[in-house]
Amino acid sequence: MEDFTAEQMEALHERLLSVKAELEAQLSDNRADSKPVDLDLPIGRISRIDAIQQQKMAQAQRRGQEVRLGQLKVALQNFGQDEYGYCRSCEEAISFERLLARPESPFCVDCKNQIESRRR
Ligand SMILES: [Zn+2]
Repeated sequence: MEDFTAEQMEALHERLLSVKAELEAQLSDNRADSKPVDLDLPIGRISRIDAIQQQKMAQAQRRGQEVRLGQLKVALQNFGQDEYGYCRSCEEAISFERLLARPESPFCVDCKNQIESRRR
């Protein structure tokens, strides 16, 4: 980690821990929302569709949070092994600004954009 100062590393480590704590809190919070909709409830067809749609959104959001939490855990492991902050695709150092915004990110901006455009 010759590219970042000790202060920057400290800031990134704190950021990783705080985003992780935030996500864990959110995930335990919305556990109630992602329970299956009870289709026998007498709530009418429209509100049932609403409820299912809301639930799907909550589930998608939750999946995103779970993925992010997994990435954060990997990032924290890498942090301890000095592998943190390098792009997993091109192996270049990821910029401090990007890491501060998305501390779990395993790719630099260029590689991430490439990966996303390939997915489309
Ligand atoms: Zn890269």
